[in-house]
Amino acid sequence: MKVHNFNAGPSVLPNEVLYKASKALIDFEGSGMSILEIGHRTPLFQAVLDEARNLLRELMQLDDDFEILYLHGGATTQFLQVPMNLLENDGTASYIDTGVWSNKAIKEAKQFGFVDVAASSKESNYNHIPKQFTIQPKSTYLHITTNNTIYGTQWQKIPETDVPLVADMSSDILSRQLDFNKFTLIYAGVQKNMGAAGTTMVAVRKSALGKVTRKIPTILDYRNHIENGSMLNTPPVFAIYISMLTLRWLKDQGGAAGIEKINEKKAALLYNEIDHNPLFRGTVAKEDRSRMNVCYIMDKPELEEEFLKFCKKEDIIGIKGHRSVGGFRASLYNALPYDSVEVLVEAMKYFSLKKA
Ligand code: PLP
Repeated sequence: MKVHNFNAGPSVLPNEVLYKASKALIDFEGSGMSILEIGHRTPLFQAVLDEARNLLRELMQLDDDFEILYLHGGATTQFLQVPMNLLENDGTASYIDTGVWSNKAIKEAKQFGFVDVAASSKESNYNHIPKQFTIQPKSTYLHITTNNTIYGTQWQKIPETDVPLVADMSSDILSRQLDFNKFTLIYAGVQKNMGAAGTTMVAVRKSALGKVTRKIPTILDYRNHIENGSMLNTPPVFAIYISMLTLRWLKDQGGAAGIEKINEKKAALLYNEIDHNPLFRGTVAKEDRSRMNVCYIMDKPELEEEFLKFCKKEDIIGIKGHRSVGGFRASLYNALPYDSVEVLVEAMKYFSLKKA
């Protein structure tokens, strides 16, 4: 029996993806070989990679200037690969600091050029998205983290700016409708909303590349990956296959528009309980609340351990908050069923009544 899996990532995957993938582990498409045994340059795998990239283009409705890549190294590698490819040594990039992950991106960018931290919500333990900031017109790009996995905040409106926009969408990619064409580069580890750990999606405008003068190592130059059709070296075959299956599932849910409606319903149910249950309290500004990672605490912290134990008994797992915030964090990614949120809300109601 499956549990109610609120893990922050890697996280829950759709059942049909897991069934299909487990069949493919034994015999992939009747080939007599496991998906783990096929050559990456065979037509069998090429079809998987093509379908995954085409689905991404379709679901994100990207224009023709974009190239879509599946890369290794996690979003963490993108923290350095983005400035290495886009930022000149004497250039400046603007970053908005909304938490741990933005900070890691800022730290890497400083190795390649100047970084202007245009705004930060650090002073208030990242409990909101900064609203006031000025971007230097000469900035090469503005980097934002669209959803802050640890603190539970999310940009509800993408900032309007004249400088190219770069975004880390690791924890909310394809969870809602967005005009993805407003961006110059988007990256996301796929292990939360569109697959399993092992690969990172990058959508980059070709027109933004080739402008820096530094020598870029072969494997880190986006242009080499583009030229080689996202197969510069052996790609993470299984992770890309799972991502392709998850994107097919996402399309069946009605794409970004369809999944957004479900995600809104899930988040509304949980936030409503947090706002009405006297035992719990949300940790972030209401207007910036994430629909992906719901962070909340108890006014009586001494009951936290007991609540976690109670949840475990109810097959609710993965809701312990990150150490920087404490309390609880329930991650409601695309594949988390609405029923799981209902079970969590029931547990919160019951526990609260018991303690009243
Ligand atoms: N960016 C965000 C917003 C994340 O949530 C994470 C991981 O949770 C990362 C980056 C790092 O991703 P990876 O572990 O794929 O390098």
